[in-house]
Amino acid sequence: MADYNYNVFWQETYKQIKNFFSADDRDHEFTLWFEKISYVSSTEDSITLSVPSAFFKDQLNQRGYAEIIQEKFTELLGTSLSINFIIEARPQTSEKKNTEKTETKETSFVKKVVVEEKRQHPNLRSDYSFETFVPGEDNSFAYNAAVAISKNPGRAYNPVLIYGGVGLGKTHLMQAIGNAAYEDEDKKVIYITAEDFTNEFMLSLRNNSMTQFKNKYRSADTLLIDDIHFFQNKEGTQEELFHTFKALYETYKQIVFTCDRPVSELKNLSDRLRSRFESGLNVDLQPPNYETRLAILEKKTQQRGIHIPKEVLDLIARNISTNVRDLEASLTKLIAYAELVNKDISLEVAQQQLRDVFGAPRQANITIETIQKVVCEYFAVSITDIKSKKRTRNFVQPRQVAMYIARELTEFSTTEIGVEFGGRDHSTVMHACDKISEKITLDSSMESMINSLVRNIKDYKK
Ligand code: ADP
Ligand code: MG
Repeated sequence: MADYNYNVFWQETYKQIKNFFSADDRDHEFTLWFEKISYVSSTEDSITLSVPSAFFKDQLNQRGYAEIIQEKFTELLGTSLSINFIIEARPQTSEKKNTEKTETKETSFVKKVVVEEKRQHPNLRSDYSFETFVPGEDNSFAYNAAVAISKNPGRAYNPVLIYGGVGLGKTHLMQAIGNAAYEDEDKKVIYITAEDFTNEFMLSLRNNSMTQFKNKYRSADTLLIDDIHFFQNKEGTQEELFHTFKALYETYKQIVFTCDRPVSELKNLSDRLRSRFESGLNVDLQPPNYETRLAILEKKTQQRGIHIPKEVLDLIARNISTNVRDLEASLTKLIAYAELVNKDISLEVAQQQLRDVFGAPRQANITIETIQKVVCEYFAVSITDIKSKKRTRNFVQPRQVAMYIARELTEFSTTEIGVEFGGRDHSTVMHACDKISEKITLDSSMESMINSLVRNIKDYKK
């Protein structure tokens, strides 16, 4: 078997990507995310790179950097290679570095930390701070509560549960509490995902190291557990968590949890743990409104030291309303593109580049006819049937769903929509929309069905 070594390609990829970054970003963003990647090995059609943690790996994906690496490789090599990232915690100094200027890098990073007089917690992201979080109107309570907790841990509110959908800032806010609490040198702050907590628990069971496990978590001054929905069905871990919780709570140690839904919606959770979760402050994070979305985009560009015209930020803020992660992803995509082709980010460039991300803009491309087609196909009924007066159940539901989606995705009024559904009255459309909204809140499968229909409708043109 031939020996493959794509290290030289990796070195070149690395160098070229580095040049994409503006001088300012090279010091921060690039240093942070690329300098810790190391070459490991190659096979004919794959290359393995190591990164220091699972978090790091996720970030490379989320930030679009894994994709950029992949693209650059393909370009240099002329053929597509699969890239594997393995996690390898390793000491900073003894390993081969991607740059000979290791020292400069380390000192410049340290210098920054020293200037700010902050210690860096090993498991918390330094950029997840209160300063970089834009609270917005709906989330100012969650934000203020988090600030209050960090000022008076264990006393202000305890425990605290931050819940909400993906990409709305739960982890960011939780880590901001952790970062602030960690400024006190005497305090032990532990941040862990529920998944890692579970794995560690099971490992210590296997290794007979339960005492160490217990000691570790019970000695925390602030314990942050992310994504507790993961504890559903994990009875043993729940039991252990309950005792950890109790020990910390009774000694006024701060406990913070995040969850992707309200506790009442968690299934297969012991009653006593459920009541513990619910016993403190439960705050939810809402999707940001337009003004907040714009403010977040402004903050993110500022942080990256990049100038993007206001009209472009406005375009993104108007079109991406799902969550902050999607908002950031669009921004990253745009910046990466602009740097790759060395172009300014004009409105035209943005519109063209983000077309896929935005999907079809409202009213312009989505017609009621398209909605009817996709919905009818899904339910296997005919358009004639949903336009007819027939009131049997197998026609009523598709009709209502289609009306609801029409209301959500187009600018048509209920009167106009009614006309397209066999000349129905606007109140019928309103009733349908209410009915479906209600079902969505009661039944998550309804929500996912609607979401998937919406995706199909948006994709319909392509
Ligand atoms: P979650 O844990 O709720 O899924 P994250 O905390 O991971 O969401 O947030 C996703 C991304 O969005 C992160 O990069 C985070 O910094 C950013 N983000 C979320 N909410 C805000 C906000 N209000 N202000 C600034 N950035 C935010
Ligand atoms: Mg999270």
